[in-house]
Amino acid sequence: MAGVFRKNSEHVYQAVPLLELGWLEHGFGSSFSTAWNRQAGLATVSQIHSDICLHAAGQTGRVGEGDALVTEAAGVRLGVRTADCVPILLADTRRRAVAAVHAGWRGTAAAIAAKVVLELRERFNSAPGEIVAAIGPAIGECCYRVGPEVAGRFREWFPERCDLDGPARIDLAEANRRQLIRAGLHESKVCVAGLCSYCSGGEFQSWRRQREAAGRLISAIWILKKH
Ligand SMILES: [Zn+2]
Repeated sequence: MAGVFRKNSEHVYQAVPLLELGWLEHGFGSSFSTAWNRQAGLATVSQIHSDICLHAAGQTGRVGEGDALVTEAAGVRLGVRTADCVPILLADTRRRAVAAVHAGWRGTAAAIAAKVVLELRERFNSAPGEIVAAIGPAIGECCYRVGPEVAGRFREWFPERCDLDGPARIDLAEANRRQLIRAGLHESKVCVAGLCSYCSGGEFQSWRRQREAAGRLISAIWILKKH
């Protein structure tokens, strides 16, 4: 779905379906969005490559150990940090609840995106059909080659592939997209940036490319006003 993401004047990427929701603010940082990546007052998690989703009711700073956050409170800025992993931002357009997700290969294999949809349902009574999701820049299939022990974990999400017994390239963003659709989101409401953090000329931080020198980019979403 190329063209559905835009880069603003501060080099922050934004998804058009989320931009159209006037009641929230969101963005996916790039290497050049310095102020955005350093913004204070975010509610975050100590990321552990899990499928744990936490509720941020009003606090800032680290809410706990996990890899996703949800809130329905206005002004609570949810943030995740990535360098190659997949950042996902979600918004329930009817109930006005939001979520931020950090999905590396482990989180993706554990279906963290689907668990976040379940959390939104159980906690805020969100209907999956009312949720919009944006999958941000992450390492692309072009640059993400993994061994059989990792590839084999993705059979459920790529049943059409018969090469997952050996080294293979994995499209993490696509796996997350499929999880969200299976969780009940409309295909038209899941948009993908399609930007590779590894081979995009330094516009994004990449752990695989830069190793310890890689910084972390912030993806954040928050509610400006309730109904
Ligand atoms: Zn690439």
